[in-house]
Amino acid sequence: MEITVQQNTPVVLEKEKFLWDFAPAPEAKNIAKIEKKYGLFIGGKFVEPRSGKYFKTINPSTLEELSEVAKSEGKDVDYAMKAAHTAYEKYWKKMPASERGKYLFRIARLIQEKSRELAVIESMDGGKPIRESRDFDIPTAAAHFFYYAGWADKLKYAFPGKQAKPLGVAAQIIPWNFPLLMAAWKIAPALACGNTVVLKPAETTPLTALKLAQIIQEADLPAGVVNIITGFGDCGASMVNHPIPAKIAFTGSTEVGKIIQRAVAGTNKKLTLELGGKAAHIILDDAAVDQAVEGVVNGIFFNQGHVCCAGSRLFLQENIAEEFLQKLKLRIQTLVIGDPLDKNTDIGAINSKEQLGKIQGYIELAHQEGLEVYQPDLPVPSKGFFCKPTLLIGASQSNRVVQEEIFGPVLAVQTFRTLEEVIEKANNTPYGLSAGVWTDKGAKIFQLTTSMKSGVVWANTYNQFDPTSPFGGYKESGFGREGGIHGLLPYVSLS
Ligand code: NAP
Ligand code: MG
Repeated sequence: MEITVQQNTPVVLEKEKFLWDFAPAPEAKNIAKIEKKYGLFIGGKFVEPRSGKYFKTINPSTLEELSEVAKSEGKDVDYAMKAAHTAYEKYWKKMPASERGKYLFRIARLIQEKSRELAVIESMDGGKPIRESRDFDIPTAAAHFFYYAGWADKLKYAFPGKQAKPLGVAAQIIPWNFPLLMAAWKIAPALACGNTVVLKPAETTPLTALKLAQIIQEADLPAGVVNIITGFGDCGASMVNHPIPAKIAFTGSTEVGKIIQRAVAGTNKKLTLELGGKAAHIILDDAAVDQAVEGVVNGIFFNQGHVCCAGSRLFLQENIAEEFLQKLKLRIQTLVIGDPLDKNTDIGAINSKEQLGKIQGYIELAHQEGLEVYQPDLPVPSKGFFCKPTLLIGASQSNRVVQEEIFGPVLAVQTFRTLEEVIEKANNTPYGLSAGVWTDKGAKIFQLTTSMKSGVVWANTYNQFDPTSPFGGYKESGFGREGGIHGLLPYVSLS
């Protein structure tokens, strides 16, 4: 159905004219084999935590309890580090690189084989729509293992003229927004380079990492090469402060990243930090407007805004701002919020009650600061943690909602007149992870991409990922790159 929107004409959405209700299309839950209780995966086996403690992980869309997982504390961390160290010295560093590669290929294939189950568990444990976990998270996790499997015996081509040696044990800490994918980003390059690993998933999304532990067992990886321990922030801190790891890899908030950087200062530990973001999404007046609207929706709403590189600051060139906003409002009135397992769902559940509270706090703040807060009239489930897509219109650089990371489906909208002005505004943030630009002029794309302090700048698209492409930040978004040849560097010493 064609929808014509004229400039300066307010859009009235007549639902019955072009919207219809979709029949629910839920993915079957029974494919997900979730155990009642999980121990810690250390030395190739699931073991009871020395702490004796467990905690629950819930489904944020139904509040149903999914499982109990072990809570590791200092002694458990020590045990895992020693297991990783023994595996490094005994087997892994001595193994021919081509053999190491075979294990990675095996893990990749097993992820593919179990992709449907992994996608369902990811959506149940974290709240993200099944379309995202099925079509993006799980296939991209497998692709990372395939990609780095290929590098294992080719490191001399990655670093010509140099000898690349593994570092030893890598301690890896990941967040809740892409649980299995972040585990793959971390584990695959570490193993390819000959290191062993202790990985901690986030406390709200431990299940796919524990499923990965079972896959690793099935792949017959030598015991202790990968250890997966569940726990809270204190467990992450014990990992960072433990004397064994030679390398710390952290993805998460800038706040915790700073604590880790201080803890590592003065030690020999190598560090990479992948931290927060506040991406500028810039629409120039010569952009293909309909495609750009879709890009903006994809950039911030399809994933509940739970993406470090989410396009959370929208910059509209002044002469198209009104038309663009009308179309954007119209589009977000058609989004489906609800059951993450339903294939119709665009916006799933917010990951936790705390995160929902934080997002609502920012929306309230925007209201108090005098911004226009626009939310479409959409049905929202009464149970679970949900948030409507939200536009904060008329924002300016000084608003906190423009400066701070919200990590929710909330888009701050500003306008600009010239490229110089938007470059200055886009760069006026402590972060520098990603950005997007929409225009039909290649020269403008190059002017913007070369002037913006962002690790990634997408042009006429948004949120595209590939294992061959490096990803990482500037400024308070962290340092080091993951993905591509660049992603090998943090896991080797060169001589
Ligand atoms: P977070 O609170 O920083 O937590 C990240 C991980 O660190 C979790 O496993 C957490 O455990 C653990 N942790 C907490 N305190 C710690 C400490 N003192 N020492 C060591 N580890 C500690 O971040 P989050 O809320 O899970 O994730 C959202 C953030 O991640 C956002 O800021 C987002 O931008 C960022 N992110 C960045 C990227 C990137 O590539 N740049 C990618 C994804 C996400 P608990 O779960 O038990 O708290
Ligand atoms: Mg959960």
